[in-house]
Amino acid sequence: MARVVHKYGGTSVATADHIKRVARRLEACHANGDQVVAVVSAMGKRTDELYALASEITHHPEPREMDVLLSTGEMVTSTLLSMALHELGLDAVSLTGAQAGIRTTAVYGRARISGIQTERMERELEAGRVVIVAGFQGVSEDFDVTTFGRGGSDTTAVALAAALEADRCEIFTDVAGVYTADPRVCSAARPLREIGYEEMLELATTGARVMHARAVEIGELYDVAIRVASSFDDDAPGTLIHGEMTMEQGNKVRGIAHQDHVAKITVRGVPDRPGIAAHLFEPLADAEVSVDTIVQNASVEKLTDMTFTVAPTDLDDALRVVEAVKTELGAAEVVSEPDLGTVSIVGTGMASAPGFAARMFRTLYDQNINVDMISTSDIRITCVISSERVGDAVRSLHDAFELDRED
Ligand code: ADP
Ligand code: ASP
Ligand code: MG
Repeated sequence: MARVVHKYGGTSVATADHIKRVARRLEACHANGDQVVAVVSAMGKRTDELYALASEITHHPEPREMDVLLSTGEMVTSTLLSMALHELGLDAVSLTGAQAGIRTTAVYGRARISGIQTERMERELEAGRVVIVAGFQGVSEDFDVTTFGRGGSDTTAVALAAALEADRCEIFTDVAGVYTADPRVCSAARPLREIGYEEMLELATTGARVMHARAVEIGELYDVAIRVASSFDDDAPGTLIHGEMTMEQGNKVRGIAHQDHVAKITVRGVPDRPGIAAHLFEPLADAEVSVDTIVQNASVEKLTDMTFTVAPTDLDDALRVVEAVKTELGAAEVVSEPDLGTVSIVGTGMASAPGFAARMFRTLYDQNINVDMISTSDIRITCVISSERVGDAVRSLHDAFELDRED
Protein backbone atom coordinates (compact mmCIF):
# COMPACT_ATOMS: atom_id res chain seq x y z
CA MET A 1 0.00 0.00 0.00
CA ALA A 2 1.35 3.40 -1.00
CA ARG A 3 0.45 6.80 0.28
CA VAL A 4 0.00 9.37 -2.48
CA VAL A 5 -0.69 13.09 -2.64
CA HIS A 6 -2.32 14.41 -5.81
CA LYS A 7 -2.88 18.05 -6.68
CA TYR A 8 -5.38 19.27 -9.27
CA GLY A 9 -5.07 22.84 -10.59
CA GLY A 10 -7.83 25.25 -11.61
CA THR A 11 -8.28 24.11 -15.23
CA SER A 12 -8.47 20.47 -14.10
CA VAL A 13 -11.45 21.22 -11.82
CA ALA A 14 -13.05 24.01 -13.88
CA THR A 15 -16.55 22.48 -14.14
CA ALA A 16 -18.71 19.87 -12.39
CA ASP A 17 -17.81 17.41 -15.17
CA HIS A 18 -14.12 18.03 -14.61
CA ILE A 19 -14.59 17.41 -10.89
CA LYS A 20 -16.39 14.12 -11.62
CA ARG A 21 -13.46 13.12 -13.83
CA VAL A 22 -10.99 13.83 -11.06
CA ALA A 23 -13.17 11.77 -8.71
CA ARG A 24 -12.90 8.80 -11.08
CA ARG A 25 -9.11 9.16 -11.17
CA LEU A 26 -9.00 9.16 -7.38
CA GLU A 27 -11.34 6.16 -7.31
CA ALA A 28 -8.87 4.23 -9.49
CA CYS A 29 -6.04 5.14 -7.15
CA HIS A 30 -8.05 4.13 -4.09
CA ALA A 31 -9.02 0.84 -5.77
CA ASN A 32 -5.29 0.10 -6.01
CA GLY A 33 -5.25 0.04 -2.24
CA ASP A 34 -3.45 3.39 -1.98
CA GLN A 35 -4.10 5.98 0.70
CA VAL A 36 -5.04 9.11 -1.21
CA VAL A 37 -4.83 12.79 -0.31
CA ALA A 38 -5.98 15.22 -3.01
CA VAL A 39 -5.20 18.93 -2.88
CA VAL A 40 -7.42 21.10 -5.05
CA SER A 41 -7.34 24.61 -6.49
CA ALA A 42 -10.28 26.92 -6.99
CA MET A 43 -12.44 26.09 -10.04
CA GLY A 44 -11.16 27.64 -13.29
CA LYS A 45 -10.61 31.38 -12.91
CA ARG A 46 -12.48 31.59 -9.59
CA THR A 47 -9.59 33.23 -7.72
CA ASP A 48 -9.39 36.01 -10.34
CA GLU A 49 -13.16 36.48 -10.04
CA LEU A 50 -12.93 36.80 -6.27
CA TYR A 51 -10.25 39.50 -6.65
CA ALA A 52 -12.47 41.31 -9.16
CA LEU A 53 -15.47 41.05 -6.84
CA ALA A 54 -13.54 42.57 -3.95
CA SER A 55 -12.34 45.41 -6.20
CA GLU A 56 -15.97 46.28 -6.95
CA ILE A 57 -16.36 46.95 -3.23
CA THR A 58 -13.02 48.58 -2.43
CA HIS A 59 -9.58 49.28 -3.87
CA HIS A 60 -8.01 48.71 -0.47
CA PRO A 61 -9.44 45.48 0.89
CA GLU A 62 -8.35 44.44 4.37
CA PRO A 63 -5.70 41.73 3.81
CA ARG A 64 -7.34 39.61 6.50
CA GLU A 65 -10.75 39.72 4.81
CA MET A 66 -9.15 39.16 1.41
CA ASP A 67 -7.57 35.92 2.58
CA VAL A 68 -10.85 34.55 3.92
CA LEU A 69 -12.51 35.50 0.64
CA LEU A 70 -9.82 33.86 -1.52
CA SER A 71 -9.75 30.70 0.60
CA THR A 72 -13.41 30.04 -0.25
CA GLY A 73 -12.51 29.26 -3.88
CA GLU A 74 -10.60 26.11 -2.96
CA MET A 75 -13.15 25.18 -0.29
CA VAL A 76 -15.90 25.05 -2.93
CA THR A 77 -13.86 22.62 -5.05
CA SER A 78 -12.95 20.41 -2.09
CA THR A 79 -16.54 19.96 -0.97
CA LEU A 80 -17.78 19.24 -4.51
CA LEU A 81 -15.02 16.69 -5.09
CA SER A 82 -15.87 14.98 -1.81
CA MET A 83 -19.53 14.81 -2.91
CA ALA A 84 -18.47 13.39 -6.30
CA LEU A 85 -16.53 10.64 -4.50
CA HIS A 86 -19.54 9.86 -2.31
CA GLU A 87 -21.59 9.50 -5.50
CA LEU A 88 -19.09 6.87 -6.64
CA GLY A 89 -19.63 5.03 -3.36
CA LEU A 90 -16.32 6.07 -1.77
CA ASP A 91 -15.80 7.44 1.68
CA ALA A 92 -14.22 10.89 1.45
CA VAL A 93 -13.85 13.98 3.59
CA SER A 94 -13.06 17.56 2.62
CA LEU A 95 -10.81 19.59 4.90
CA THR A 96 -9.97 23.29 4.86
CA GLY A 97 -6.31 24.17 5.35
CA ALA A 98 -7.04 24.84 9.02
CA GLN A 99 -8.82 21.50 9.49
CA ALA A 100 -5.89 19.77 7.80
CA GLY A 101 -3.66 21.24 10.52
CA ILE A 102 -1.69 23.61 8.30
CA ARG A 103 -0.24 26.30 10.58
CA THR A 104 1.23 29.45 9.04
CA THR A 105 2.76 32.82 9.77
CA ALA A 106 0.23 35.66 10.00
CA VAL A 107 1.35 37.39 6.80
CA TYR A 108 -1.85 37.61 4.78
CA GLY A 109 -1.56 36.93 1.06
CA ARG A 110 1.88 35.38 1.38
CA ALA A 111 1.79 33.30 4.54
CA ARG A 112 4.47 30.66 5.05
CA ILE A 113 3.84 27.24 6.52
CA SER A 114 5.24 27.01 10.05
CA GLY A 115 4.10 23.45 10.78
CA ILE A 116 1.55 20.79 9.88
CA GLN A 117 -0.38 18.84 12.52
CA THR A 118 -1.17 15.65 10.66
CA GLU A 119 -3.32 13.82 13.28
CA ARG A 120 -6.67 14.56 11.66
CA MET A 121 -5.49 13.55 8.19
CA GLU A 122 -3.85 10.38 9.57
CA ARG A 123 -7.10 9.45 11.31
CA GLU A 124 -9.14 9.92 8.13
CA LEU A 125 -6.66 7.95 6.03
CA GLU A 126 -6.59 5.10 8.58
CA ALA A 127 -10.40 5.00 8.35
CA GLY A 128 -10.03 4.40 4.59
CA ARG A 129 -11.28 7.82 3.53
CA VAL A 130 -10.00 9.83 0.60
CA VAL A 131 -8.86 13.14 2.10
CA ILE A 132 -9.51 16.26 0.02
CA VAL A 133 -7.64 19.36 1.18
CA ALA A 134 -8.42 22.91 0.03
CA GLY A 135 -5.18 24.26 -1.44
CA PHE A 136 -3.17 27.43 -0.79
CA GLN A 137 -4.44 28.13 2.71
CA GLY A 138 -3.71 27.62 6.35
CA VAL A 139 -4.38 29.21 9.69
CA SER A 140 -2.30 31.55 11.85
CA GLU A 141 -1.68 31.17 15.56
CA ASP A 142 -4.68 33.45 16.15
CA PHE A 143 -6.86 31.15 14.03
CA ASP A 144 -7.11 33.63 11.20
CA VAL A 145 -7.27 32.16 7.70
CA THR A 146 -4.19 32.87 5.59
CA THR A 147 -3.29 32.20 1.96
CA PHE A 148 0.07 31.48 0.32
CA GLY A 149 0.02 33.71 -2.79
CA ARG A 150 -0.94 32.95 -6.39
CA GLY A 151 -0.24 29.38 -7.46
CA GLY A 152 0.18 28.31 -3.82
CA SER A 153 -1.80 25.05 -4.00
CA ASP A 154 1.34 23.32 -5.31
CA THR A 155 2.98 24.30 -2.03
CA THR A 156 0.15 22.75 -0.02
CA ALA A 157 0.58 19.50 -1.95
CA VAL A 158 4.35 19.20 -1.52
CA ALA A 159 4.19 20.26 2.14
CA LEU A 160 1.52 17.62 2.85
CA ALA A 161 3.56 14.98 1.01
CA ALA A 162 6.53 15.86 3.25
CA ALA A 163 4.52 15.93 6.48
CA LEU A 164 2.62 12.72 5.70
CA GLU A 165 5.78 11.02 4.41
CA ALA A 166 3.94 10.17 1.22
CA ASP A 167 5.43 7.78 -1.30
CA ARG A 168 4.45 9.98 -4.24
CA CYS A 169 3.56 13.62 -4.86
CA GLU A 170 1.89 14.24 -8.20
CA ILE A 171 0.94 17.66 -9.53
CA PHE A 172 -1.72 17.34 -12.22
CA THR A 173 -2.12 20.37 -14.44
CA ASP A 174 -3.23 21.43 -17.93
CA VAL A 175 0.05 20.69 -19.73
CA ALA A 176 2.06 17.46 -19.97
CA GLY A 177 4.78 18.42 -17.47
CA VAL A 178 7.56 20.97 -17.20
CA TYR A 179 8.50 22.11 -20.69
CA THR A 180 11.68 23.67 -22.03
CA ALA A 181 9.65 26.92 -22.22
CA ASP A 182 6.01 27.86 -21.73
CA PRO A 183 4.30 25.79 -24.47
CA ARG A 184 1.67 28.50 -24.86
CA VAL A 185 4.36 30.96 -25.92
CA CYS A 186 6.77 28.66 -27.76
CA SER A 187 5.24 25.91 -29.89
CA ALA A 188 8.65 24.20 -30.23
CA ALA A 189 8.87 23.64 -26.45
CA ARG A 190 8.91 20.00 -25.32
CA PRO A 191 8.32 18.33 -21.96
CA LEU A 192 11.41 17.46 -19.93
CA ARG A 193 11.59 13.92 -18.58
CA GLU A 194 13.33 15.09 -15.41
CA ILE A 195 14.78 18.20 -13.85
CA GLY A 196 16.74 18.91 -10.67
CA TYR A 197 15.32 21.00 -7.81
CA GLU A 198 17.87 23.74 -8.34
CA GLU A 199 17.04 24.29 -12.01
CA MET A 200 13.30 24.01 -11.36
CA LEU A 201 13.52 26.58 -8.58
CA GLU A 202 15.28 29.07 -10.85
CA LEU A 203 12.69 28.52 -13.59
CA ALA A 204 9.79 28.87 -11.15
CA THR A 205 11.12 32.05 -9.52
CA THR A 206 11.68 33.65 -12.92
CA GLY A 207 8.20 32.99 -14.27
CA ALA A 208 7.56 29.30 -15.10
CA ARG A 209 4.28 29.19 -13.21
CA VAL A 210 3.77 25.47 -13.83
CA MET A 211 5.27 24.99 -10.32
CA HIS A 212 5.03 27.34 -7.34
CA ALA A 213 8.62 28.16 -6.34
CA ARG A 214 8.02 27.48 -2.66
CA ALA A 215 6.73 24.01 -3.48
CA VAL A 216 10.07 23.26 -5.15
CA GLU A 217 11.95 24.62 -2.12
CA ILE A 218 10.00 22.35 0.22
CA GLY A 219 10.52 19.43 -2.16
CA GLU A 220 14.28 19.93 -2.02
CA LEU A 221 14.36 20.48 1.73
CA TYR A 222 12.36 17.31 2.53
CA ASP A 223 13.54 15.28 -0.44
CA VAL A 224 10.08 14.87 -1.95
CA ALA A 225 10.23 13.76 -5.59
CA ILE A 226 7.49 15.61 -7.47
CA ARG A 227 5.91 14.40 -10.68
CA VAL A 228 4.24 17.06 -12.83
CA ALA A 229 1.83 15.62 -15.38
CA SER A 230 -1.32 16.35 -17.33
CA SER A 231 -4.66 15.64 -15.66
CA PHE A 232 -6.13 15.24 -19.15
CA ASP A 233 -3.71 12.69 -20.58
CA ASP A 234 -3.24 9.58 -18.44
CA ASP A 235 -0.52 8.09 -20.63
CA ALA A 236 2.02 10.92 -20.84
CA PRO A 237 4.86 10.34 -18.36
CA GLY A 238 5.25 13.96 -17.28
CA THR A 239 8.32 15.40 -15.59
CA LEU A 240 10.07 14.19 -12.46
CA ILE A 241 11.50 16.95 -10.28
CA HIS A 242 14.07 15.38 -7.99
CA GLY A 243 17.56 15.56 -6.55
CA GLU A 244 19.14 12.52 -8.11
CA MET A 245 19.79 13.57 -11.65
CA THR A 246 21.37 10.55 -13.27
CA MET A 247 22.03 12.05 -16.64
CA GLU A 248 24.98 14.31 -17.30
CA GLN A 249 23.17 17.45 -18.35
CA GLY A 250 26.44 18.87 -19.55
CA ASN A 251 26.82 22.04 -21.36
CA LYS A 252 23.18 22.89 -21.89
CA VAL A 253 20.50 25.38 -21.18
CA ARG A 254 17.64 23.31 -19.72
CA GLY A 255 14.82 25.78 -19.92
CA ILE A 256 13.64 29.31 -20.59
CA ALA A 257 11.29 31.21 -18.31
CA HIS A 258 9.61 34.54 -18.86
CA GLN A 259 7.54 37.16 -17.13
CA ASP A 260 5.21 39.22 -19.31
CA HIS A 261 4.99 42.10 -16.88
CA VAL A 262 7.45 43.63 -14.45
CA ALA A 263 7.84 47.25 -13.41
CA LYS A 264 11.07 49.17 -12.94
CA ILE A 265 11.83 51.95 -10.48
CA THR A 266 14.90 54.18 -10.78
CA VAL A 267 16.05 56.46 -7.99
CA ARG A 268 18.24 59.07 -9.70
CA GLY A 269 21.08 61.19 -8.37
CA VAL A 270 21.60 59.49 -5.01
CA PRO A 271 24.72 60.65 -3.11
CA ASP A 272 27.06 57.63 -3.15
CA ARG A 273 27.76 56.93 0.51
CA PRO A 274 27.64 53.82 2.72
CA GLY A 275 24.15 52.72 3.71
CA ILE A 276 22.07 54.03 0.80
CA ALA A 277 21.08 50.55 -0.34
CA ALA A 278 20.05 49.64 3.20
CA HIS A 279 18.06 52.88 3.58
CA LEU A 280 16.23 52.17 0.34
CA PHE A 281 15.58 48.44 0.61
CA GLU A 282 14.84 48.10 4.33
CA PRO A 283 11.59 50.10 4.15
CA LEU A 284 10.61 48.18 1.01
CA ALA A 285 11.12 44.91 2.88
CA ASP A 286 9.12 46.28 5.84
CA ALA A 287 6.30 47.05 3.41
CA GLU A 288 6.49 43.39 2.18
CA VAL A 289 7.46 44.51 -1.33
CA SER A 290 9.68 41.92 -2.93
CA VAL A 291 12.37 43.37 -5.14
CA ASP A 292 13.93 41.46 -8.04
CA THR A 293 16.75 42.63 -10.27
CA ILE A 294 18.79 45.43 -8.65
CA VAL A 295 21.39 47.51 -10.47
CA GLN A 296 23.47 50.30 -8.97
CA ASN A 297 25.29 52.40 -11.55
CA ALA A 298 28.94 53.35 -11.13
CA SER A 299 28.90 56.78 -9.54
CA VAL A 300 29.65 59.94 -11.46
CA GLU A 301 30.75 62.91 -9.34
CA LYS A 302 29.71 61.00 -6.20
CA LEU A 303 26.14 60.57 -7.48
CA THR A 304 24.67 57.22 -8.45
CA ASP A 305 21.38 55.75 -9.76
CA MET A 306 19.68 52.77 -8.14
CA THR A 307 17.32 50.74 -10.32
CA PHE A 308 15.24 47.71 -9.36
CA THR A 309 12.23 45.75 -10.58
CA VAL A 310 9.04 44.78 -8.75
CA ALA A 311 5.84 42.97 -9.68
CA PRO A 312 3.41 45.40 -11.35
CA THR A 313 0.94 44.76 -8.51
CA ASP A 314 3.55 46.07 -6.04
CA LEU A 315 4.45 49.19 -8.07
CA ASP A 316 2.15 51.63 -6.25
CA ASP A 317 3.22 50.40 -2.81
CA ALA A 318 6.90 50.51 -3.84
CA LEU A 319 6.59 54.06 -5.20
CA ARG A 320 4.90 55.23 -2.00
CA VAL A 321 7.76 53.79 0.07
CA VAL A 322 10.50 55.18 -2.18
CA GLU A 323 8.93 58.66 -2.36
CA ALA A 324 8.82 58.67 1.44
CA VAL A 325 12.57 58.01 1.78
CA LYS A 326 13.64 60.11 -1.22
CA THR A 327 14.49 63.21 0.83
CA GLU A 328 16.32 61.18 3.45
CA LEU A 329 18.41 59.58 0.67
CA GLY A 330 19.07 63.00 -0.88
CA ALA A 331 17.92 61.63 -4.26
CA ALA A 332 17.15 63.93 -7.19
CA GLU A 333 14.11 62.09 -8.58
CA VAL A 334 12.21 58.82 -8.74
CA VAL A 335 11.00 57.50 -12.08
CA SER A 336 9.16 54.31 -12.96
CA GLU A 337 8.47 52.28 -16.06
CA PRO A 338 5.62 49.76 -16.02
CA ASP A 339 5.76 48.00 -19.40
CA LEU A 340 8.71 45.66 -19.05
CA GLY A 341 9.11 41.89 -19.01
CA THR A 342 11.89 39.39 -18.42
CA VAL A 343 13.37 36.40 -20.17
CA SER A 344 15.71 33.96 -18.40
CA ILE A 345 17.84 31.04 -19.49
CA VAL A 346 18.51 28.36 -16.85
CA GLY A 347 20.87 25.38 -16.70
CA THR A 348 23.42 23.97 -14.27
CA GLY A 349 25.83 23.53 -17.20
CA MET A 350 26.22 27.30 -17.24
CA ALA A 351 28.16 27.32 -13.99
CA SER A 352 31.15 25.62 -15.59
CA ALA A 353 31.11 26.78 -19.21
CA PRO A 354 31.55 30.22 -20.71
CA GLY A 355 29.70 31.65 -23.67
CA PHE A 356 26.07 31.41 -22.57
CA ALA A 357 25.71 35.12 -21.85
CA ALA A 358 27.34 36.06 -25.16
CA ARG A 359 25.00 33.78 -27.10
CA MET A 360 21.97 35.10 -25.24
CA PHE A 361 22.86 38.76 -25.91
CA ARG A 362 23.70 38.06 -29.56
CA THR A 363 20.36 36.29 -30.07
CA LEU A 364 18.43 39.20 -28.56
CA TYR A 365 20.48 41.70 -30.57
CA ASP A 366 19.76 39.79 -33.80
CA GLN A 367 16.06 40.18 -32.96
CA ASN A 368 16.61 43.90 -32.33
CA ILE A 369 15.54 43.46 -28.71
CA ASN A 370 17.05 45.98 -26.33
CA VAL A 371 18.34 44.65 -22.99
CA ASP A 372 17.40 47.04 -20.22
CA MET A 373 18.91 45.25 -17.21
CA ILE A 374 20.74 41.98 -16.59
CA SER A 375 20.93 39.78 -13.52
CA THR A 376 22.60 36.43 -13.05
CA SER A 377 23.00 33.52 -10.66
CA ASP A 378 25.42 30.60 -11.11
CA ILE A 379 22.90 28.80 -13.26
CA ARG A 380 20.71 31.59 -14.68
CA ILE A 381 20.88 34.74 -16.78
CA THR A 382 17.88 37.09 -16.77
CA CYS A 383 17.39 40.03 -19.14
CA VAL A 384 14.82 42.74 -18.53
CA ILE A 385 13.35 43.72 -21.90
CA SER A 386 10.28 45.43 -23.33
CA SER A 387 7.09 43.61 -22.38
CA GLU A 388 5.88 43.39 -25.97
CA ARG A 389 9.04 41.58 -27.15
CA VAL A 390 8.98 38.82 -24.49
CA GLY A 391 7.38 36.21 -26.79
CA ASP A 392 9.91 36.84 -29.58
CA ALA A 393 12.75 36.61 -27.07
CA VAL A 394 11.55 33.25 -25.70
CA ARG A 395 11.15 31.72 -29.17
CA SER A 396 14.46 32.94 -30.54
CA LEU A 397 16.40 31.83 -27.45
CA HIS A 398 14.68 28.42 -27.56
CA ASP A 399 15.93 28.10 -31.09
CA ALA A 400 19.43 29.46 -30.43
CA PHE A 401 20.04 27.05 -27.54
CA GLU A 402 18.53 24.13 -29.50
CA LEU A 403 16.05 23.23 -26.82
CA ASP A 404 13.77 21.47 -29.27
CA ARG A 405 16.33 18.64 -29.43
CA GLU A 406 16.07 15.63 -27.13
CA ASP A 407 18.67 15.41 -24.31
P1 ADP B 1 -2.64 24.90 -12.48
O1 ADP B 1 -3.92 25.65 -12.44
O2 ADP B 1 -2.79 23.46 -12.85
O3 ADP B 1 -1.81 25.09 -11.23
P2 ADP B 1 -0.99 26.85 -13.84
O4 ADP B 1 -1.73 27.74 -14.79
O5 ADP B 1 -0.63 27.40 -12.52
O6 ADP B 1 -1.82 25.51 -13.71
O7 ADP B 1 0.36 26.30 -14.52
C1 ADP B 1 0.29 25.65 -15.77
C2 ADP B 1 0.64 26.64 -16.88
O8 ADP B 1 2.00 27.05 -16.70
C3 ADP B 1 0.63 26.07 -18.26
O9 ADP B 1 -0.67 26.12 -18.81
C4 ADP B 1 1.64 26.90 -19.01
O10 ADP B 1 1.03 27.88 -19.82
C5 ADP B 1 2.44 27.60 -17.92
N1 ADP B 1 3.88 27.40 -18.03
C6 ADP B 1 4.82 28.38 -17.94
N2 ADP B 1 6.05 27.88 -18.10
C7 ADP B 1 5.91 26.55 -18.28
C8 ADP B 1 6.84 25.48 -18.49
N3 ADP B 1 8.15 25.68 -18.52
N4 ADP B 1 6.33 24.24 -18.63
C9 ADP B 1 5.01 24.01 -18.59
N5 ADP B 1 4.09 24.98 -18.40
C10 ADP B 1 4.53 26.24 -18.24
N1 ASP C 1 -6.39 29.40 -6.68
C1 ASP C 1 -5.11 30.02 -6.39
C2 ASP C 1 -4.63 30.81 -7.58
O1 ASP C 1 -5.34 30.90 -8.56
C3 ASP C 1 -4.08 29.02 -5.92
C4 ASP C 1 -3.71 27.95 -6.93
O2 ASP C 1 -4.47 27.70 -7.87
O3 ASP C 1 -2.65 27.34 -6.77
O4 ASP C 1 -3.59 31.39 -7.52
MG1 MG D 1 -0.54 26.63 -10.59
